[in-house]
Amino acid sequence: MDQPILAADPHAEIREEVAKLCARFPGEYWRNVDRERAYPTEFVQALTEAGYLGALIPEEYGGAGLPLSAAAAILEEIHRSGGNAGACHAQMYIMGTILKHGSPDQKKRYLPKIASGELRLQAFGVTEPTSGTDTTALRTVAKREGDRYIVNGQKIWTSRAEHSDLMLLLARTTPRSEVAKKTEGLSTFIVDMKAALGHGLTIRPIRTMMNHNTTEVFFDNMEVPAENLVGQEGRGFRYILDGMNAERLLISSESIGDAKWFIRKAVDYSKERVLFGRPIGQNQGVQFPIARAYAQMRAAEALLRQGLAKFETGQPCGEEANMSKMLAAEAAWAAGEACIQTHGGFGFAEEYDVERKYREARLYQVAPISTNLVLSYVGEHVLGMPRSY
Ligand SMILES: Cc1cc2nc3c(=O)[nH]c(=O)nc-3n(C[C@H](O)[C@H](O)[C@H](O)COP(=O)(O)OP(=O)(O)OC[C@H]3O[C@@H](n4cnc5c(N)ncnc54)[C@H](O)[C@@H]3O)c2cc1C
Repeated sequence: MDQPILAADPHAEIREEVAKLCARFPGEYWRNVDRERAYPTEFVQALTEAGYLGALIPEEYGGAGLPLSAAAAILEEIHRSGGNAGACHAQMYIMGTILKHGSPDQKKRYLPKIASGELRLQAFGVTEPTSGTDTTALRTVAKREGDRYIVNGQKIWTSRAEHSDLMLLLARTTPRSEVAKKTEGLSTFIVDMKAALGHGLTIRPIRTMMNHNTTEVFFDNMEVPAENLVGQEGRGFRYILDGMNAERLLISSESIGDAKWFIRKAVDYSKERVLFGRPIGQNQGVQFPIARAYAQMRAAEALLRQGLAKFETGQPCGEEANMSKMLAAEAAWAAGEACIQTHGGFGFAEEYDVERKYREARLYQVAPISTNLVLSYVGEHVLGMPRSY
């Protein structure tokens, strides 16, 4: 099933190496961390040591200096092998904000340590309980006082906050009523979470249907040194938007990996399970949903590749990034649905890993951006229909 794709893939070698690493973390490992809602520390450590989490960091800062398509290949392989990159994927795209908009000092201070694994930049504080998708309505405020900012407010769904040294935080520095456009007056900060914890920063875990180590975080007069402001004050929303295409393309590749895992698992089982004197996969009622999900996955994958190629050649890729993210998440869900149905009752048993992957794959129709918001991007920015919000 994967041969034609792999043969044409410039990252075939990386895929092979990542697959070997993932083989050390089989279903049993993921089942255990899922059951305990634990952080997959050993897996993240192994990825870090192999240099994969620093894939996008330029060589001058100690990273591998690889293109986005290589990072996409890494994440896809993790998911295709049955694992879950949700524990660490954010580091790949968050660091882009520091790389692109950070000062030379910030780059020197953070990037080499992120590349070596000494520092984890896994937490991304954007979403808030009251504003949700309406990001520019966020209420967390950072007020400048001398050589520091005082931060007050709350974030929700800040994943990996308990397992990260640094957080990239988006907060309002000028009230919405005082800016010409609602996208202005927001700023981006690097927060040293270890220093802030217990000094204005509180983290509360949220238990979710899958193991995602997500939390809500509270800021109560938390101090952030002014030197930790990224780029210019008031331009933070633009900086976050800048990183969104990369984020969507990477999440899309995870969903493609999920779809491939489900399809392989469903195909294998359909050939092994014999009922009424023949393998269940001989019945077209079993075959067709799997075949349909495969077709959906390949279409989403083609769009992902177009998006990656455009991203890497500096062309606008919002259309492909958004659409491939939506279609890949839907293909993964269709494949998960076909897989669980093919397995009958066994699809619900923990030891088959299908139910775990099914729960994990569902997230990407909601986060980091929900399907409706992708459709509204396409409606407005691609098709030129009237703006709805
Ligand atoms: C497990 C998990 C991990 C996450 N990790 C992070 C993280 O690390 N950092 C972070 O900042 N955020 C994170 N998020 C937040 C995630 O990005 C948001 O949940 C997502 O963007 C949706 O926002 P919301 O939950 O506030 O939903 P809402 O904005 O309240 O939307 C609810 C529903 O209404 C729909 N809707 C809203 N407005 C419109 C409209 N104008 N037109 C049509 N439909 C609309 C949405 O599509 C959605 O289906 C995470 C979320 C989850 C569940």
